Amino acid sequence: MSDVKTEKMGFEAEVSRLLHMMVHSVYSDREIFLRELISNASDACDKLRYGVQTDDSLKSDGPDYGIAIAVDVKKKTITVADNGIGMDRADLIENLGTIAKSGTAGFVDQMTGDAKKDVQLIGQFGVGFYSVFMVADSVVVTSKKAGDENAYQWTSNGEGSFEIGEAQKETQGTEIIMHIKEDASEFLEEYRLKNIVTTYSDHIAVPITLAISGGPKNADGEDDKEAEKPTVVNEGSAIWARPKADITDEQYQEFYRHVGHAFDEPAHKLHYSVEGMQEYTVLLFVPTKKPMDLFDPERKNRVKLYVKRVFISDEGSDILPGWLRFMRGVVDSQDLPLNVSREMLQNNPVVTRMSKAITKKIITDFEKMATKDAPKFEAIWEEFGGVIKEGIYEDFERREQLLKLSRFKSTTADGWTTLAGYVERMKDKQTEIFYVTGAEEAVLRKSPQLEGFVARGIEVLLMGDAVDDFWLQGSPDFEGKGFTSITRGASNLDDIAEAEDKADKKETATEGQMTTLTTLMKEVLGDKVSDVRASNRLTATACCLVASDTGMDMAMERIMKAHNQLGQMTAKVLEINPTHAVIRKLAERAGETGAIDALGDAVWLMLDQAKILEGDPLDDSAAFARRMSSVLEAGLA
Ligand code: ADP
Repeated sequence: MSDVKTEKMGFEAEVSRLLHMMVHSVYSDREIFLRELISNASDACDKLRYGVQTDDSLKSDGPDYGIAIAVDVKKKTITVADNGIGMDRADLIENLGTIAKSGTAGFVDQMTGDAKKDVQLIGQFGVGFYSVFMVADSVVVTSKKAGDENAYQWTSNGEGSFEIGEAQKETQGTEIIMHIKEDASEFLEEYRLKNIVTTYSDHIAVPITLAISGGPKNADGEDDKEAEKPTVVNEGSAIWARPKADITDEQYQEFYRHVGHAFDEPAHKLHYSVEGMQEYTVLLFVPTKKPMDLFDPERKNRVKLYVKRVFISDEGSDILPGWLRFMRGVVDSQDLPLNVSREMLQNNPVVTRMSKAITKKIITDFEKMATKDAPKFEAIWEEFGGVIKEGIYEDFERREQLLKLSRFKSTTADGWTTLAGYVERMKDKQTEIFYVTGAEEAVLRKSPQLEGFVARGIEVLLMGDAVDDFWLQGSPDFEGKGFTSITRGASNLDDIAEAEDKADKKETATEGQMTTLTTLMKEVLGDKVSDVRASNRLTATACCLVASDTGMDMAMERIMKAHNQLGQMTAKVLEINPTHAVIRKLAERAGETGAIDALGDAVWLMLDQAKILEGDPLDDSAAFARRMSSVLEAGLA
């Protein structure tokens, strides 16, 4: 019962947009509203069950947690009630008036304003509590937070505002009454509701009961007393504790969506129990798509930790290392004490041992998949390889194993390659693994520094993930072969292999001419370059920049600069291509008197061109434009 202290409040603008869509939704699978409510109710029970173990101020009214669905056919209402943690006034306003974390925020981010497209998004995201407005004209939420004296009521018809006031409620928990829309009366039917619960919520670990009053008369023409009695409609046991053979793919999938707050399908699952020294059960999933929080700076682990079926924590537990943070699911330990607090989980030896064993199992599982079902593993790698590679520098113990597991794109291999595959294909005289980092694959493929390698059939790995620069910094090796960036240091590729296409071997400036030219260029460019040298790294492009032997790799330097870790970019080596027509012309004229003045503009343009190829800003774009025009003018004259 609300009283005089009822207050009217507006929804946050995004919520209003969302609700408007819900109210007017023509989405065909409206039944998901029940899944969302049950999922929230189950989380609320989990939270309280944990809370009473660790927080003395929290008390539960009874030992049995549960979710009750009650239908009043005459009044056209469905009530979903739980005896979980409940919400106080502030919680109600925050949770049911703004965009709460998880799913809903992602949904709103992707809303386009185009009703048709947005409706399709409901299927992809589910939209939590707000989905009730697809089936209800008005909704009353009455809630009492465990340990609180007062109960509160939230009422809304989903149009712009809600009312909040005090209420009477004896027991802790939340009760949601939905006044069902005319066109949604199918949801008042017992059969339909039962079906929805078993389809979407069978895995929920607390009992869900269903009671129908005012429904169809029984065979004797009397009120159906049987239907009025709450009967349990779900399995009600923790899904991970059931034998695998009893669980259908659909049930696994629904559980994944519930436990991972996910909306895609799991790409892979791992379900097993361990007995003996340690006892625990694991049900983990690899998502198909990157979860929204994958690159949050906290890099939080989202696997839920249970102790003897009791939910303990779903954040920050050290159950899995940061580089496996995309995994979703449950680990249920028999060995930890029930009243373990979240703080106690950090550096806990039982957790550490379990974490090591589970991590090992996951890697072994990936290894098996990679040989038995390469396309499946590669799809997972495509999505999460960028995260798994963090383990190469974070998890020293597993570096070797992770390097072996890693997949890369390369200049010669189709699709993904392993490092072992690369080493096998290496040229006889080749001693290093060549790579280029810094941008997405398609851009890397166009790097001028690649030209000489491609011409000689020397394979180069194309590493497009930001993390690559970091693990490569640790200068690991693979089977005794070091990793060498093709944008750093001098490399005489002819020592490894000759250009494959001899016919393509073009005229080249003589060594003497090149010495004169590089000396001249160094004089013109001064400290803007650390060196100028002839290179066989290039075939089609006139020039490119590389880092010096001792310098930081260029991609790494760019990352540091972007993070303000570096004041000034260091001067690079300008490499020039003796077979390129422009360089040949410059080389011919470099020995003439007055060459330094005559060729100065062209030399500067070479440097600027190399910078543009790298995507680096020009020091002086006005000067670039001026030189470009004057050189063009001379050329066109
Ligand atoms: P989500 O579940 O994706 O966070 P919802 O819109 O479904 O989004 O719910 C928002 C928040 O409201 C939940 O995260 C939870 O804190 C709170 N909430 C919803 N239903 C309940 C409930 N039955 N008991 C307690 N808290 C709830």
